[in-house]
Amino acid sequence: MVDYLIVGAGLYGATMAERLSHEGKKVVVVDKRPHVAGNVYTENIEGINVHKYGAHIFHTNNKDVWMYVQQFAEFNRFTNSPVANYKGELFSLPFNMYTFNKMWGVVTPEDAAEKIEEQRHAAGISEPKNLEEQAISLVGTDIYEKLIKGYTQKQWGRQCSELPTFIIKRLPVRLTFDNNYFNALYQGIPVGGYTKMVEKMLDGIEVRLGVDYLENKAELNMLADKVIYTGPIDAYFGYKLGTLEYRSVRFETEVLDKPNFQGNAAVNYTDADTPWTRIIEHKWFEFGKDENGNDLPKTVISREYSSEWKVGDEPYYPVNDERNSKLYAKYKALADKEYNVIFGGRLAEYRYYDMDTVIAAALNMFKDLEYSDN
Ligand code: UDP
Repeated sequence: MVDYLIVGAGLYGATMAERLSHEGKKVVVVDKRPHVAGNVYTENIEGINVHKYGAHIFHTNNKDVWMYVQQFAEFNRFTNSPVANYKGELFSLPFNMYTFNKMWGVVTPEDAAEKIEEQRHAAGISEPKNLEEQAISLVGTDIYEKLIKGYTQKQWGRQCSELPTFIIKRLPVRLTFDNNYFNALYQGIPVGGYTKMVEKMLDGIEVRLGVDYLENKAELNMLADKVIYTGPIDAYFGYKLGTLEYRSVRFETEVLDKPNFQGNAAVNYTDADTPWTRIIEHKWFEFGKDENGNDLPKTVISREYSSEWKVGDEPYYPVNDERNSKLYAKYKALADKEYNVIFGGRLAEYRYYDMDTVIAAALNMFKDLEYSDN
């Protein structure tokens, strides 16, 4: 018998496992995949740490979380500055003076602000009710048409007018020349990859890989007093109220026999016709060098295709629209009645979590448990 059975070795599960075992609790972690680290998993190919489930750039304003992760990895100085490619025309992201200058030829912040205001006014939006209106009101119609509309519709498989406003509010809009995609105080990539970091978090903890909890629930539940479940909440309940929708992502990864394909970690293809949403060139997360600081002769790229999720696919992005939010609330009510089970993380809470917020959520849950135990 152990104190906690932790289902899922992603960031939520690994943080809980690390904290609880640090506190002297006995924990066992199970994961149905053959590796730890969930969707932050990186695999070394040709000396390059490849983000197998999509690009992950650690960024946070939360000093506690930043200090917490430093214990398990050294972070490099990577700053995310994606480039948008709209039919061969390149624009800086996030939306800043470089973007406005390229789009309109404006040179001063006043002129850029005036241009945005002019387009917002012409569109007649006062209170944005959906992503389309929110985007136009933040950056005007030209940027919406070239850099947001096509990308968002590919990414979410829905019209921008049917999506919630919060998705686009993730992106900063700045009247300064600053291509840093994030506003966070702290940012970087763990040197040596995320897998190494999560392995360090789980050091000394029993981890059983290739174990599907839901298929072996009765037997695994006998192992522990309490369960921390980080899988999909609807799957836990056998989808009995219906399935929550996700967007899934498919990656086409290629090793290229050249040192530099696109000169940047991320290039977003923002037109509607290019079938992929973005191309990631993984070596640039670590400045094109191997662990000894040598230049790498090859490169690895991943084209990212977004698709509607169906049972059996990997769930990536929760689709937090009205239907799904209501359905989640019903599952949450069932989850609240499972007294010995804690539901946490992106899939169990059906939330578009960033890495830092998922770690913060786990640290908070750990504090609650500590409090209730004492
Ligand atoms: N987005 C966009 N154009 C871009 C990049 C992002 O319209 O070039 C929109 C899109 O709707 C996306 C949202 O902004 O879903 C959030 O983007 P973010 O880069 O935060 O998404 P993630 O990296 O989590 O996929």
